[in-house]
Parts: sequence; C-alpha cells; structure tokens
Amino acid sequence: MPQEGSVKDRQTMEVTFWGTRGSISTPGRGTEKYGGNTPCVSVTVGDIQIILDAGTGIRNLGLEVDGESIGKEKISRFHLFLSHTHWDHIQGLPFFQPLYEPHAHLTVYGSRKKGRFLSSILKGQMDVDYFPIGLSELAATLDIQEISSRVIRLGPVMVDWEEQSFHPGGSVRYRLSLNGKKIVYATDVELDRLYEPTISKREREAHLKRYIKFVENADILIADGQYTEEEYPKKAGWGHTSIPVLIDLALQAQVRQLAIFHHDPRRLDAEIDDLWRMGLERIKAKGSHMTLFWAREGMTLAI
Ligand SMILES: [Zn+2]
Ligand SMILES: [Zn+2]
Repeated sequence: MPQEGSVKDRQTMEVTFWGTRGSISTPGRGTEKYGGNTPCVSVTVGDIQIILDAGTGIRNLGLEVDGESIGKEKISRFHLFLSHTHWDHIQGLPFFQPLYEPHAHLTVYGSRKKGRFLSSILKGQMDVDYFPIGLSELAATLDIQEISSRVIRLGPVMVDWEEQSFHPGGSVRYRLSLNGKKIVYATDVELDRLYEPTISKREREAHLKRYIKFVENADILIADGQYTEEEYPKKAGWGHTSIPVLIDLALQAQVRQLAIFHHDPRRLDAEIDDLWRMGLERIKAKGSHMTLFWAREGMTLAI
C-alpha cells in the first residue's frame, strides 16, 4: 500500500473487530453471528499495527498477521493498548502467535494506576501454574510500558487516553486520531453512574463533562453497552453501561457511528438483532442520523 507523498493525506484507519464479547468467551450456535471471543480490536494505518485489548480475539489476529506480515528480514511492530487487566482483556495474549516469532516486537501500554506493575500482572498469567511458557521465554521482543505521557505518537497516528472512574479496579479509554478522524475506544465503564443520586451532582457533572469532551465528534465510538435498561438495576456496580444511556450520551457527544461492544455473555444473536432495531428507533425518535450497530467479530471498516 503506498504511504508517501500526497497519498498520505488520504490514509485511513482500518478497524477490525476480533473479539466483541464481554466477561468470558462464549462459543456456540447462538453467538456465531456477533462472535464469542473476548475484546480485541485492531487499527492499522499502513504498516502501523495498533491493537486495543488482548482478549481471546487476539488469537485470530495473530494467526492472520503471522501468515502474511511477519517478515524474515524486517521487524513487525505491534502496539497493544490495554483498557485494563481483567481476564477478558488479557487472556488471549499468550496465544498471540507473533510472540513466538523472533522478528516481532510488541509494545504493551496500560495504566500505571494499579496496585502492581503492569508487567508483573501480565507475567502472572503466564506463570507455570497457568501456562506452560513464561513471559521471559518468548522469542519476540516485548516492551511493557505504564503510560505516562499524555499523547503517544505512532507515525501519523496520535493516541491519547484518560483513566475511567466507574469500573472495579479502573480502566482506560483511548482516542486514536489521524488527519482529523477520531476513533474512541471506551469499554468497561458504568456510565449509568453519571446519573446516580448518591454521587454528588458536582462530581457527576465533572465526570460527564470529561467524558463528552473526550468522545465528542468521534467518527466511531466503540463502547460498552452490556445491559438492557431492564437488566441494569440487577447489575449496578458491575462496571458496565446500559444501552439507552450509552446511546443518549453518544448523541449528546455528536458521535457519527456508535459500535456497541462487550456484549453480555448471555446475549444471543437474535436478541442483539432486536436490540439493534430498538436502538435505531430511539435514535430516530431523537431526530438523529447517528449510525448504530452492534460490533460483530470479523467486521472491518475504514475510518
Ligand atoms: Zn471486560
Ligand atoms: Zn473489566
């Protein structure tokens, strides 16, 4: 793909969903349309390979890039941004094939607001009691960084981030910008708490303002909409957002496309189809033309 000169201005970010399921992988007939792998999204711009989360979906990404782009002469670089280290966001990492290739280089970025260093958390899940190969035995070069600078530049792509408050143990949202286009990845956050009366109005307003500012005018918002309005009260405090709240916030932030993500493990394909229809009606009733879809494993789009 040509990447230089005048062509550079027309570069797009290619987004692919490799895992869209929340909490635990859910293979089976009832989930084959939207997918059963846990969160992983890739964003490629030319030869820059960005990965958002390392749920079980990262395994298929690894198999695909291993076959096509792990060069024998040149180093293949991957930049993995972790929203947080709950199992469903890191469990696929030991199965990411490029880790076993000497010509691969993986930089992992994640929050430094953890009780333990990010590297020790990732090392822990590859302890011999859980996995036969240790983190230090990998053929690839691994660089684990706790993000500190406000902005990370990867060629023409700018990545900025913010800590999210409403998730047990915390989580990070990321924004990828290129030539005025923006992708926001903001999963595992309970936005319904922005309306919770037990939190002071001032605090809620500050959180809301921060959220809207970060998400505003996103060309695509990939966001956690795990529960229906009816399910949410029983799951309050679990760290996930209900669909109507997410849709309304995306409308308020003038998002262009909303990709609902981190599907509940019990949600079957047919139910998602119904939720999609209901979501479209909600958007139409509010006089908006925002594009809405439930993210599906294998789906690719250009931003
Ligand atoms: Zn999760
Ligand atoms: Zn989580």
